[in-house]
Amino acid sequence: MIQRRKTRQVKVGNVLIGGDAPIAVQSMTSGYTHDIDGCVREINKLAAAGADIVRVAVPEKKDTLALKEILKQVSVPIVADVHFHFQRALEAVEAGVHKIRLNPGNINDRKQVESVIDACKERKLPIRVGVNEGSIVERKDKQRRMKELGAVFSDNRHGHLLAIMITKLEEYLDIFYERDFYDIVISAKSIDPLLVIDAYTEISKRFDHPLHLGVTHAGPKETGTIRSVVPLGTLLANGIGDTLRISYANDPIYEVQDGLELLYVLGLRTRKGAELIACPTCGRIQVDLFTLVQQVNRKLKEEITLPIKVAVMGCVVNGPGECEGADVAIFAGDKRGIIYVQGEKVANVPEEQILEALLAECKKFQTKVLAGQAKLGEKLVDIIPPDPIGELGSGYAKIQAAKETGGSTVTLPVVQA
Ligand code: SF4
Repeated sequence: MIQRRKTRQVKVGNVLIGGDAPIAVQSMTSGYTHDIDGCVREINKLAAAGADIVRVAVPEKKDTLALKEILKQVSVPIVADVHFHFQRALEAVEAGVHKIRLNPGNINDRKQVESVIDACKERKLPIRVGVNEGSIVERKDKQRRMKELGAVFSDNRHGHLLAIMITKLEEYLDIFYERDFYDIVISAKSIDPLLVIDAYTEISKRFDHPLHLGVTHAGPKETGTIRSVVPLGTLLANGIGDTLRISYANDPIYEVQDGLELLYVLGLRTRKGAELIACPTCGRIQVDLFTLVQQVNRKLKEEITLPIKVAVMGCVVNGPGECEGADVAIFAGDKRGIIYVQGEKVANVPEEQILEALLAECKKFQTKVLAGQAKLGEKLVDIIPPDPIGELGSGYAKIQAAKETGGSTVTLPVVQA
């Protein structure tokens, strides 16, 4: 189990961030905030997908003017993302948002920052200070600053940038501390995954404010997933991070889905709905497993609400070991599938009936769990295939043949008499 770093707790509407609160998943709308209907639709879609908090951009006064109406029509806490114009922050606070995000790179006039702090303090609203690499580093004197400050982290691969980000953060937070304001969340995003790891690690040693993790401008989902999940997963596994946003140049719904999945696989959030594991298939496969997995995935999302672990395996050769711990499992063979529920064989059906039969068993198992007659994960799928050759005509036969001709070194499963 991951030991999380101790942080102060802040309250964003009805969601807690930091301390022992579950790590919150955030996303941001991609449309205009002043398009009230579109913005509400997007926020509610993200909330339905599992977003705990949604951020909206407020570049113009017409955006902050729309906030009041938007807030009436959504239930998830809303963060106003403010750049350049401190007045937008004041207007957003007035409209009733639940948190403000400020960028020290473009709102740094002391009086202006103080007025935002005071407005938030009066309404008990937290402020996220985002020292993102792209906007924090002064472009004009970047080279000089990098040289001067690099010595502070000379043993770090990103010494100069890290020094600038942390120095800026310290200077900025001093304004908050002087006004006795501590409801702060910090972010330090970069496009460089290694800098993200280093920046948050260093910041976590210096401040006890909750940290908002993210990789900025991660790109399209195809490559952005790896770019985001590597640093965020590394930090989370080290106990660092209290809320996160994965950002893609794509529908933000994927940000929520992937953010949640990352927390699920690390055991940092309790999964909602079924968990599907499946084999990648190989030359032993004798059913259309890729199609089956897609169909099972879709049906589980529609019909299963409990975190039942379901395994879809292409054959009985490695399948049983690989899906150990699944509540419900299917092992495919020669155009057939054998279904197990917590170690007990319950069906042997032709390929065209696998989906229906598997789903029926999942629903039956869910009903039993809800009635208190079964427990999730209670009995491991610890299956020794009953007769993989006779019953399924599975890939076992191929391996056996290969072995006889000296073509395979695969260890065969123990076969019951
Ligand atoms: S050995 Fe069987 S379970 Fe493993 S990848 Fe191949 S088909 Fe799937």
